[in-house]
Amino acid sequence: MPTGSPNTLKGWATMDGAEGFARLDTENFPTFEPGTVWLVGAGPGAPGLMSLLAYHAMQTCDIVVYDALVNPDILRWVRPGAELQYAGKRGGKPSPQQRDITLRLIELAKAGKRVLRLKGGDPFMFGRGGEESQNLAKAGVPFRIVPGITAGVGGLAYAGVPTTHRDLNHSVTFLTGHDATGTMPANVDWGAVAKASPVIVMYMAVKNCAEISRALLAGGRDPDDTLTFVSNATLPNQTVMTTPLGEVENFLEQNMPPTPAIVIVGKVDRWREILDWYADTQRENPIG
Ligand code: SAH
Repeated sequence: MPTGSPNTLKGWATMDGAEGFARLDTENFPTFEPGTVWLVGAGPGAPGLMSLLAYHAMQTCDIVVYDALVNPDILRWVRPGAELQYAGKRGGKPSPQQRDITLRLIELAKAGKRVLRLKGGDPFMFGRGGEESQNLAKAGVPFRIVPGITAGVGGLAYAGVPTTHRDLNHSVTFLTGHDATGTMPANVDWGAVAKASPVIVMYMAVKNCAEISRALLAGGRDPDDTLTFVSNATLPNQTVMTTPLGEVENFLEQNMPPTPAIVIVGKVDRWREILDWYADTQRENPIG
């Protein structure tokens, strides 16, 4: 074993003659037991941003139940023979109720399947992974959580925005732009957020963005602060649009940011001027 290699990993595999080069397919990943559910984060979009555990789960599962925001390119890595079930909205049909999805997961696990529940980003970040795992626990179904890179961090990185930077923000707030009914969440103290959080990262916020901006301005946020939309983050069609917070409504009359989009409030445009690395030829590789 090469010096400095992690000695907690058993069965260090080497390619012929290539001392210390561990092959992924010989690693001791946790066993995906029949009758269990793995809630797996697929990352923000670019397939290369998935974790090794997520890849392993795709190689060993019996069925994948996946959400609308999962990049279909990722599903190419699901082992041949495993079943694919879509759990999002399709062709204008109403989306399945969360309750139905959870019941389906429980049923599949109780039938002895290795169930991979694949979600965009991180399953515990505005992904209802909390609710799903809670119900699995209640039903006595063993489960594992495989975290993913959330759009509100990985998507920012691809837009040249550090989520935190010592020169700008010692804290960051993650928010959802709508509640279960689709309206702006009423139980968020928008005034407190406006004052306390130099950078606010919002999911599902495009629709209610004008209303949210008004609430932040009413809470004392500077109208010259920047609001940034990062659409299709980490994908070759990623776009970034910015407007002063005080002009969001006018901006939205002229422009419609594509979705999915992350909305950032804060002076992060100054980072983008220097750090916007994901450009031109870098976008040509569909893996990341
Ligand atoms: N669990 C996911 C979030 C699900 S909520 C995560 O951790 O990323 C869905 C919201 O995520 C979208 O409305 C959008 O705000 C954001 N989102 C997901 N993928 C995105 C992407 N590729 N680009 C921009 N926003 C994205």
